Amino acid sequence: MHQVRAKKHLGQHFLKDPEIGRKIVESLQGKFKYVLEIGPGMGILSQFLFEHKEYETFMIDIDPESIQYLREHFPFQQDRIIEGDFLQFDLLKKFEEPVAIIGNFPYNISTQILFRVLEFKDHIPEVVGMFQKEVAERIASGPGNKEYGILSVLMQMYYDVELLFVLNQEDFQPAPKVKSAILHFVLKPGFVAECDEKLFKRVVKVAFNQRRKTLRNALSAMVDKAKMSELPFLELRAERLSWQDFVVLTNAIAKIL
Ligand code: SAH
Repeated sequence: MHQVRAKKHLGQHFLKDPEIGRKIVESLQGKFKYVLEIGPGMGILSQFLFEHKEYETFMIDIDPESIQYLREHFPFQQDRIIEGDFLQFDLLKKFEEPVAIIGNFPYNISTQILFRVLEFKDHIPEVVGMFQKEVAERIASGPGNKEYGILSVLMQMYYDVELLFVLNQEDFQPAPKVKSAILHFVLKPGFVAECDEKLFKRVVKVAFNQRRKTLRNALSAMVDKAKMSELPFLELRAERLSWQDFVVLTNAIAKIL
């Protein structure tokens, strides 16, 4: 049988065992009409998504060879197979209702995928995705952890985040250099951010930009030094603050900007 040639620049590592594909698909829990799979490749997840008749499953892959493979193997799904770059894809135009995201994500763009998810978060109730294990641990880790960073704060504010399971290098063809892990994100129902969300994102970025420094130093990039003393947490480093702390900090900064 014709197979897709794995292309390194597209982050292609194909899952070998269909049962792992099934397990990933069965991690989706919520009730929604649409599912979008990012990077279906040869369809090892897609085949199980199609078994779920309650979903309307779409797939987007940037690789013409994968698209051709999918069209040949899933002839009844032609209208659901999209050739394109997820990072450029206009989700709101395509889906008038919320859409869950799933995929064995290409590692080179996995964090960019999450920043894109955040842009559309009100429209994305759930995400199940494959990441490099260290990246997954970083995103799921809490304050006080050396690995904790910008995406941990942003994703944990809007989503309940859980690391579901870890996969070995040999589970893929070709084998990647490191282990992988599946993360599960569920949008917090009815969540309303109690701060200016644009400013929140800016504060988090500036704070982690110089993560070895205290917030007093890191925030001097955006806050007038004379007013700095009105802010909380100044002697801490960014990695000590929960997303709730960052909300408090953002509101304090909003008052003095
Ligand atoms: N789901 C398959 C393939 C995973 S490999 C499996 O588990 O076996 C990652 C897939 O993402 C590849 O098919 C690659 O072509 C695709 N991809 C890479 N960059 C992409 C992008 N920007 N948008 C959509 N798909 C992309």
